[in-house]
Amino acid sequence: MAPDTRYPHPSPLPEGEGVCTAWARAELEALVSRGLKRVLEPLDSPQGPLVRVGGETLVNFSSNDYLGLAASPSVRAAAAAALEGYGVGSGASRLVVGDSTVHQRLEARIASFERSEAALLFNSGYAANVGTLQALVGPEDAVFSDSLNHASLIDGCRLSRARVVVYPHSDVEALERALASTPARRRLVVTDTVFSMDGDHAPLREIVRVCRAHGAALLVDEAHATGVLGARGAGLCEELGLCDAVDVRMGTLSKSLGGLGAYICASRPVVELVLNRARPLVYSTALPAALCAAAEAAVDIVEHDEALRARLWRNIRRFSAGLRSLGFVAEPRSAIFPVIVGEPERAVAAARALRARGLLVKAIRPPTVPEGTSRLRFCLSAAHTEGHVDLALEGLRSLNL
Ligand code: PMP
Repeated sequence: MAPDTRYPHPSPLPEGEGVCTAWARAELEALVSRGLKRVLEPLDSPQGPLVRVGGETLVNFSSNDYLGLAASPSVRAAAAAALEGYGVGSGASRLVVGDSTVHQRLEARIASFERSEAALLFNSGYAANVGTLQALVGPEDAVFSDSLNHASLIDGCRLSRARVVVYPHSDVEALERALASTPARRRLVVTDTVFSMDGDHAPLREIVRVCRAHGAALLVDEAHATGVLGARGAGLCEELGLCDAVDVRMGTLSKSLGGLGAYICASRPVVELVLNRARPLVYSTALPAALCAAAEAAVDIVEHDEALRARLWRNIRRFSAGLRSLGFVAEPRSAIFPVIVGEPERAVAAARALRARGLLVKAIRPPTVPEGTSRLRFCLSAAHTEGHVDLALEGLRSLNL
């Protein structure tokens, strides 16, 4: 075979810096030139409607803390008590000695909240999606994935090594055609219920129907629906009465529940299989007990404090009506509102202009969203006041988009 002349061997050493540093510098320059380089901006306060950033107090419209529980006194108190009782670290993976009665209690609490036979904790939503997909399907199988699914589902599909069929966003007919023409040992459909960058809902009833018709299993990601949708806050499945019709429901502890971690709800055999197979569970240290105790307190609030969810929905409706009066297309469907501005530089400039008015709204750019759809992504919270919501609308009016 002729040598590949594109890559001289050995590679010439870059001058004056390490090999890896040279790679990084070149890639970073490319990101800067395309307006896609991201930087950290540390907060000097808890999450909440008002946060301290760089010495300024800003109204925060970029947090997934939809119910304002990240800094809730009772959630903090539960975490502090478990911190005292169980220490900081969990010491090992759950299957070694990292499990505790606090973890077990939280799983039982989540299963009762979600009306599920069993629940299983993960360290993050990312780990839950990657681990569950990799545990349930393999090279002889096929996964059918919505084109706008979260990156963690996409990565789970890849790690599973199943055949992956991506269907156009929320296109149930295309999904049905794909199911009809793709035989495999096991077939699994995966979708967000509330899409993270657009805030729209998956057509879940129809998806359940085609899964049943074709003998496929269904895994849904309720990350942005938990605490927001459903009479008790158990997500879109609860709202549509589909809890029992979906094989695996994933929810996060990191958004409405204000903490860190995630869970799947499923039958006991599914939970036991995933516990045995999911690499992010088997090979990673368990969540600290303090975070489990915090989540348990947060689930109690989500399930029983209807006024909190009502406050979030008042804000959602107010913002959505305001957006419409500014000429945007907006529906009160979830706590997420994208305002699409197009090119990344425009989105960054718009975020900067809002920042000058005291509003923290991050620009979301590719690869998180498709090319040409860079956006401001507003996330509402029950902790925002009407005044905060109106400030955001005033800010948007001033942008003249
Ligand atoms: N799924 C969706 C739809 C998400 O938006 C996110 C977080 N942005 C995750 C999963 C991952 O959750 P976590 O942040 O807990 O890892």
